[in-house]
Amino acid sequence: MSATTQSITVLGASGSIGVSTLDVIARHPDRYKVFALTADRRWQVLATQCLAHNPRYAVMKDPASARELELELRRQGCPTEVLQGDEALAQVAADPLVDTVMAAIVGAAGLLPTLAAVRAGKKVLLANKEALVMAGGLFTHAVAESGAVLLPIDSEHNAIFQCLPNHRADYLQEGLKSSGVRKILLTASGGPFRNTPVSDLSRVTPEQACAHPNWSMGQKISVDSATMLNKGLELIEACWLFNTRPQQVQVVVHPQSVIHSMVEYIDGSVLAQLGNPDMRTPIAHALAWPQRIESGVASLDLIATARLDFSAPDYVRFPCLRLAQQAAEVSGMAPAILNAANEVAVAAFLQRRIRFDQIANVIEQVLTRIESVEPHDLAHVQAADSEARAMAQQLITQW
Ligand code: NAD
Ligand code: MG
Repeated sequence: MSATTQSITVLGASGSIGVSTLDVIARHPDRYKVFALTADRRWQVLATQCLAHNPRYAVMKDPASARELELELRRQGCPTEVLQGDEALAQVAADPLVDTVMAAIVGAAGLLPTLAAVRAGKKVLLANKEALVMAGGLFTHAVAESGAVLLPIDSEHNAIFQCLPNHRADYLQEGLKSSGVRKILLTASGGPFRNTPVSDLSRVTPEQACAHPNWSMGQKISVDSATMLNKGLELIEACWLFNTRPQQVQVVVHPQSVIHSMVEYIDGSVLAQLGNPDMRTPIAHALAWPQRIESGVASLDLIATARLDFSAPDYVRFPCLRLAQQAAEVSGMAPAILNAANEVAVAAFLQRRIRFDQIANVIEQVLTRIESVEPHDLAHVQAADSEARAMAQQLITQW
């Protein structure tokens, strides 16, 4: 290993972002070495990844999957040590031997290990937007205290980051306006139901919701993209990452997903970042930042793309986007409540327990029933998260 080799923990290695991250890492064995890989229960995927990357640790959240992985790795003669459970996830995220942590667990389950990496002052590549949405204030405070470097992996936020001035400290301290930014233009594909008659949305299936036209992603974010709640989470994420207000972020529907977002300055300049819709671009960008490395992503063929379209979001079709914008404006605990209700509703939709159009109903009812106060610590956020989950479950059971 050379002195400049980065040692990396990939939280959520078996998922869509995890697999793309390991693809980029494998292209640069001189620069990156895998320290730990983690997953919930897909131990077969982790076994293959351990054999390819030879990490020091593999962590499974699920105990039975940890036992299976242990047996398989010993059978294959792989020396990777298998650990299990939440503490082990936080431990491999904060280990002194780790430089960089890819935070790619889906949902609220990623909050504690991601926060452990932040508190340990790591370079944290943030895909797990739900962690920031739930506890943005605590999270950004921990970043400032520890000196962690937080880099966005979400393609829109990575694009915005690339279009913003290099002097991050200025806008992180004084807000985006002080850097001459008028607004952020957050692009959205509109998902698989952009043109579906609204009256048909009560009948769409999980398979249809997960068939995103441009991106291949995990199930939960695919459903969030179909409801456009994902864009709402991204609006909240942008406010925390770039120290701005929801009013300064405009959602623009751009079905081709070639422009990944834009920044408009007060002199009228609009800067955009373009590329093929492939998460290896933002992953490679954040891994190597401030340098640039090959990602394996093909060149963008603008002639074949031919046209770029833009329109305003349709709030009748996508009520979840409006709910998220309202939660962003209320702030306090509202984004955590929104996120928790959505996670429960999306899981119920994937299990065919509720209809697609009922996801918004669950979120709205939970948001109106729980008061949003300012969170004072992590336990307070976790209590609101639990309360919102229980209420969402209760509503779903009653329907
Ligand atoms: P995925 O479902 O494909 O993978 C999720 C990973 O998290 C898996 O490795 C899984 O084992 C792990 N996991 C799930 N529940 C867990 C638990 N309770 N404890 C520990 N680990 C658990 O999801 P994904 O599409 O890779 O998305 C990961 C995160 O990245 C999400 O927050 C998503 O919003 C964000 N993101 C994804 C994309 C994308 O293109 N896939 C783009 C932008 C942002
Ligand atoms: Mg995104």
